[in-house]
Amino acid sequence: MPGKVDSARKLVGRPLTLSEKILYSHLSLPAGTAYNRGVDYVDFAPDRVAMQDATAQMALLQFMTCGRDKVAVPSTVHCDHLIQAKTGAVQDLATALDTNKEVYDFLASISNKFGIGFWKAGAGIIHQVVLENYAFPGGMMIGTDSHTPNAGGLGMVAIGVGGADAVDVMAGLPWELKMPKLIGVKLTGKMSGWTSAKDVILWVAGQLTVKGGTGAIVEYFGEGADNISATGKGTICNMGAEIGATCSIFAYDDKMAAYLKSTGRTEVAELADGIREHLRPDADVYTNPEKYYDQVLELNLDTLEPYVNGPFTPDLATPVSEMKAAVEKNGWPSKLEVALIGSCTNSSYEDISRSASIVKDAVSKGLKANSEFTITPGSELVRFTIERDGFIRQFEEVGGVVLANACGPCIGQWARHIDDPNRKNTIITSFNRNFAKRNDGLASTHAFVASPEIVTAMAIAGTISFNPLTDTLTNDKGEKVKLSEPSGFELPPKGFAVEDAGYQAPAADGKGINVLVSPDSKRLQLLEPFAAWEGNDLKGLKLLIKAKGKCTTDHISMAGPWLKFRGHLDNISNNMLIGAINFYNEKTDTVKNQLTGEYGAVPATARAYKAAGIGSIVVGDENYGEGSSREHAAMEPRHLGVRAILVRSFARIHETNLKKQGMLGLTFADKSDYDKVQEDDSIDIVGLTSFTPGKPLTVVLNHKDGSKDEISVNHTYNEQQIEWFKAGGALNVIRSQVAK
Ligand code: SF4
Repeated sequence: MPGKVDSARKLVGRPLTLSEKILYSHLSLPAGTAYNRGVDYVDFAPDRVAMQDATAQMALLQFMTCGRDKVAVPSTVHCDHLIQAKTGAVQDLATALDTNKEVYDFLASISNKFGIGFWKAGAGIIHQVVLENYAFPGGMMIGTDSHTPNAGGLGMVAIGVGGADAVDVMAGLPWELKMPKLIGVKLTGKMSGWTSAKDVILWVAGQLTVKGGTGAIVEYFGEGADNISATGKGTICNMGAEIGATCSIFAYDDKMAAYLKSTGRTEVAELADGIREHLRPDADVYTNPEKYYDQVLELNLDTLEPYVNGPFTPDLATPVSEMKAAVEKNGWPSKLEVALIGSCTNSSYEDISRSASIVKDAVSKGLKANSEFTITPGSELVRFTIERDGFIRQFEEVGGVVLANACGPCIGQWARHIDDPNRKNTIITSFNRNFAKRNDGLASTHAFVASPEIVTAMAIAGTISFNPLTDTLTNDKGEKVKLSEPSGFELPPKGFAVEDAGYQAPAADGKGINVLVSPDSKRLQLLEPFAAWEGNDLKGLKLLIKAKGKCTTDHISMAGPWLKFRGHLDNISNNMLIGAINFYNEKTDTVKNQLTGEYGAVPATARAYKAAGIGSIVVGDENYGEGSSREHAAMEPRHLGVRAILVRSFARIHETNLKKQGMLGLTFADKSDYDKVQEDDSIDIVGLTSFTPGKPLTVVLNHKDGSKDEISVNHTYNEQQIEWFKAGGALNVIRSQVAK
């Protein structure tokens, strides 16, 4: 890294921020020029990949087809998203092991075969496990989950991506990212009392809003940053996802060294100590931050008070001292029904020990919890250690229920017991997201987010109007008592301990290992490589749908109940484009089958063309495929015989995903040509035999009345991407390279 940082500094011609040092050290090819932030697309070579169990399924099914024996970079799978919280850790985990057996067996076997570390159900939540085991200062990681940036707490550029990106990196392809802009957050002072790391990000979210970090890395610096524990830094970076940031990061310091040592990575800490100056911004960045960051915020931790954010959005930030008035003014239900601490965001030993101190203090003063109270440990390492140290017993004394080491209520995997699902009600969590319905699926639930300390105090009070800094509570003797300030330990004084962390190391040689997928499975299906291009122009494609207006990846491949099929391409393809509006009748999921003249569902119509050996084409409007990077939105049309997507404009990630799947993604050279496409058109794509970067293709619209329109269409394929098209997909190219 030091050599790469020095040459990057020369190239850029000025001192560097930490993010720049890490980004330039991870270019997949040496840079010829400095890159423009927010403009240039750059190829990177990340050090690691982490996948959660829901997104890993399709990523690994695709990876299997690339022909490699092993993943190209260290990778791990974490079984955390599929466990439903209902009664408590033991029973809920047993139920999940039964319900999700085929998915877990598949993930365990494919991980074993291809050199991937496998963390079993109950081992913990992806980001906590990564922080404890894999994150390291100066590294770059991608993860198939939006809170991957949690690893920024250990000085890593860690970015949440879609499965298609993970497939690329595991297969050995470069990974493309628009050079991020940089937002600097200067922290001065030191937190005390009821304030904790969570309040830093709750404040930042209030300042920047849910979109303010888009396309940017948020870099925290200043002496205040060095005063925050490594896990506290992780909390702040984790929730950077709530402001849309690419990722967030802190510079290497003594707190990180201490955490690395306490989690068995003394060697990593020593290596980092040896190159400490390269793992921190250059000196002038500290003195003149506005010269280096696109935007700078400053926060004095001495004056920061706890915040409560929500409901329904994480950027509605209210200082705890103003909550009572805000509750009255907005008519939010003040009575707290459920308080939930833990999750990947806030379940460190520090969080738990400080929350436990509040509970212990409350019990000693004759108080108990006045709402339901749940605790979700982020990993078995944390759970075992906090049990050994007596904290779980303390939570249970006030009626706390310990849930499995898993996502549970954070991702809606929560069988909540509520008398009337339509009743306006309030919950508060120390999680990160609080959009309507996220936790329990109920639109009536007002979900707030705060630090574990504030959530615990409110659980005792039974109301979100309670300010523990100033208010008193009445105990079982009728006396007015005040909660003491929380206290705890950044790291366990007796060290971390665990009996079975829940890890399965991969086989040294996976050749003889079978990937377990039942042929009758409804949730999993092995993939066949897509067919290569036939070598001719595409003639007589039937118009499947001319989508009108917004067509996001949700319109193309809906989530919700369909997610259970995310590992089964044929089954999930039954949601293809069912949310898109048909231009000709303004209806969703109702298109004309040109073979029969009848109207039917989009997937069924595509299947009819495919069965008849006829290709089809989708026409779309502006920014087609915006939204998530969900690869199913590109794989489903490919699977159902769609050969090309022709639109006014593409969302870039979706366009790239189409290219990776061997599809043609084309744009009207003249956007008004969208209007020339008619419902009964048969469409030819001409010029493919001389498909060249920068050279437009021709599309012939053969109308039902015998007339034709010939229009010019553009594309953005480079040489490599044209090879993907010809081979039938990027993974087919890799497979043929591996076979050589
Ligand atoms: S705990 Fe919540 S935020 Fe964290 S990985 Fe799970 S679902 Fe995502």
